[in-house]
Amino acid sequence: MSAAPTAVIDPFLRDALFARIADRRDELIALTQALIRIPTINPPGDVYADCAALIGRRLAARGFQVEYVRAHGSAGDSDRFPRTNVIARIEGPRPGPCVHFNGHIDVVPPGQGWTVDPFAGVVKDGRVYGRGACDMKGGIAASIIAVESLLDAGLLTAGALEISGTVDEESGGFGGVGHLAKLGYFSKPRVDHVIIPEPLNVDRVCVGHRGVWWAEIETKGRVAHGSMPFLGNCAVRHMGAVLHRIEEELIPRLSEKRTDMPVVPEGARQSTININAIHGGQREDHDGLPSPMVPDRCRMVIDRRYLIEEDPDAVRGEIVAILDDLRQRRPGFDYDLREILAFLPTMTDADAPVVLAVAAAIETVLGRPAQRVVSPGTYDQKHIVRIGHLKDCIAYGPGILDLAHQPDEYVGIDDMVQSAKVMALATLALLAGRAGG
Ligand SMILES: [Zn+2]
Repeated sequence: MSAAPTAVIDPFLRDALFARIADRRDELIALTQALIRIPTINPPGDVYADCAALIGRRLAARGFQVEYVRAHGSAGDSDRFPRTNVIARIEGPRPGPCVHFNGHIDVVPPGQGWTVDPFAGVVKDGRVYGRGACDMKGGIAASIIAVESLLDAGLLTAGALEISGTVDEESGGFGGVGHLAKLGYFSKPRVDHVIIPEPLNVDRVCVGHRGVWWAEIETKGRVAHGSMPFLGNCAVRHMGAVLHRIEEELIPRLSEKRTDMPVVPEGARQSTININAIHGGQREDHDGLPSPMVPDRCRMVIDRRYLIEEDPDAVRGEIVAILDDLRQRRPGFDYDLREILAFLPTMTDADAPVVLAVAAAIETVLGRPAQRVVSPGTYDQKHIVRIGHLKDCIAYGPGILDLAHQPDEYVGIDDMVQSAKVMALATLALLAGRAGG
C-alpha cells in the first residue's frame, strides 16, 4: 500500500504547492495573530462564537459550506458563554475520501509570568507569542493555510475537505468534539481521516494518549473543639494516612509499570498519579483568625494517568484497596469515592493510513524520519475513536509540546510553514487513497 513517499504527486506540482505555502507565510502569521487576539479563555469559555465566526467567515468566502453547532446544555453553556463550534466542508468534483482537520479554539487562562501581552499576537525572533499560539491556534492556522493552498492549486479533484474549530477541549471536550461526535460529524461515511493539529512538534506523529481517571476522595470525621481533639475525629489526619499510603506504596508501584506506548516525554512512559488538590477544615478565604475546630471533612482530587496495558477497573481498584484497608485498620476511618472523569487510553495502529501519510510527508518536507509518539495527556482523539468509531485519527501540529499552558507560549513561524506543507502533502496522499505517499 505504501509507495515511495514522493510518488503521490508529480514533483513539479508538489514543489509548486510548497512554494505556494511558503509565499503565504505573512498570511499564516496574520491568521495566527487574529486567532490569538480573540481571548477564548476556558474557563469560562469566553468569546467562542467570535472565534468560530472568524474561521467560518473565512472558509465560507472560499466556497466551504459552514455550519455552527452550539452544544446547548453542555457543561458551562449559557447565552453569555455559548459553546459554539464551527464545521466547514468543501467537496471536490468527484466522490472520494474526506480528510478532516480538527482544532480546539479554547485556550487555558494566561496565568502569571508573561513578558508580552498574552493576547496581542506579538511577533518576535521568528515566533508568534500568545496564549494558544502553540496550543493550538498556530496549528489551526497552519491547517487552514494548507487546505486553502491545495484548493488554490486546483488539487481537490476528488473527495472532500473539512475544517472544524471546536470548544472546551481543555475541559474534556464534551461541548466540542464530544458533542459533534454524538451527532455523527466524526463518523464514516462523512469523514475518513482526521488530523488534529495539537502541539506535538513538527516532526512527530502522535498516535494516541494514555488513559485518565480523576477521582475525589473524601475522608470523614467528627467536629470537636480544637483544644480537645481527642473528642473529635480528624478527617485531615485520615487523609494524611491516605497520602502516606499513596506515597509509600502506590507511587513506587506505578513507576514500575512501564509501557510499550511511545509516550513523550520519557518520564510519562509509565503510570503516574498527581494530587490535583486537597482541602480540609475551614475555608482559607476568611478575614481574621480561624476558630479552633477539628475538621470533619477532607477532600482530595487525584489525577491518575494509565497505560494501554492496564485495566481501567484495576486502576480504580488500587485506590479502593488502599481506602478499604485503611477502613479496616484505622479507627474512625471512613471515606467516599467519587469518580470525576474517565477516558480510556487510545492508540491508532502504526500502519493506519493517516499515520503512514503524515509520516511520509514529514520525511519529504523535513528530510528526516518521523517520530511516532503518544501524548502524556488526552486530547479530543478519545471522542473521535470512542463515540465516532473512527480509528484513523492522529495529532500532528507545529507547536512545541512543552510550551503548552506555559507563560510566554509561542509557535515558531518556520515550524508552522513546514507543518502546513506536511499537512497539505499528507492530505493529497489520503485524498488519492495512497496512505504511504
Ligand atoms: Zn490542545
